[in-house]
Amino acid sequence: MNRKYRKTIIAGNWKMNKTASETAAFANEIKPMLPKNPGCEMLLCMPAVNIPAAQKAFKGSKIRIGAETMHYEASGAFTGEVAAGMLTDIGVKYVIIGHSERRQYYGETDLTVNKKVRAALDAGLTPIVCVGESLEQRELGVTDELLAYQVMTALSGVSSQELRHVVIAYEPIWAIGTGKTATSEQAQEVCGNIRTLLRKSNDARTARAVSILYGGSMNAKNAAELLRMPDIDGGLIGGASLKTADFVTIIEAAAAVEA
Ligand code: PEP
Repeated sequence: MNRKYRKTIIAGNWKMNKTASETAAFANEIKPMLPKNPGCEMLLCMPAVNIPAAQKAFKGSKIRIGAETMHYEASGAFTGEVAAGMLTDIGVKYVIIGHSERRQYYGETDLTVNKKVRAALDAGLTPIVCVGESLEQRELGVTDELLAYQVMTALSGVSSQELRHVVIAYEPIWAIGTGKTATSEQAQEVCGNIRTLLRKSNDARTARAVSILYGGSMNAKNAAELLRMPDIDGGLIGGASLKTADFVTIIEAAAAVEA
């Protein structure tokens, strides 16, 4: 990470876990455990239905509450969906877009991810755009090409100015929820390649201002090593963000880098 040019972000992705009352209990437990000056943005993304309760429960702490997905249309006949404007109206700033589970189970594609990025930026949200390869794709040796395609498609039509309000999360699919983490070298290589791509497609100043997170079985044990890498600016954390002690340990690991 490089705090001089960009934000460090430790973001939890709770997926379809915790009720509103479990969220409140988590907030009460974690609040006194958080470092006073973590030097990073702390974020928990959760099901939209729990966001108001979470905002209330986390009041007075520096943890922000984000969403896990949104639709690209502003309103209309999209049963069950949530629009960007609905999120901003309740004070949400961050939204995860294109998580591999959304791509796998809900048919999201690079093209719909691009539409969502556009809609999020237009509404004033910061999208956390997830990209990553499957194990098969890694073994075929096409990771770099695939990631370049995913990133460039997701960001098509996004200006350099807007790019500063985009967060990219590199999440190798084979590492999500599997307990198999990418090595810090593997994760750094891809995150570094993404930054090089942003430098070429935009400019060096913009590229160095974009936070690039790693996600995929990041936990209390491996976080410090991953977060020490120069192009890894934080984590998108699933399982380990559900446990207060583990999430705090990861935040402390981020705080310790360059502190
Ligand atoms: C995720 O859901 O984005 C994720 C990285 O999950 P886990 O940390 O559990 O692998």
